[in-house]
Amino acid sequence: MGKFPIADKALLKTWICKKCKARNSPNAEKCRKCDYRNLRPKRAKKKDVKTSK
Ligand SMILES: [Zn+2]
Repeated sequence: MGKFPIADKALLKTWICKKCKARNSPNAEKCRKCDYRNLRPKRAKKKDVKTSK
């Protein structure tokens, strides 16, 4: 519960570069720092993640 709930929401969609750990925007296709394409989503809570399976 921070001052910026919008920022908290955006954080859930943030992509983390597996190579250099840089944070990238939700619509990023590759790391803005090293151009590495293997990004993983940053998730604060696993409970909120629902799989469609
Ligand atoms: Zn990177």
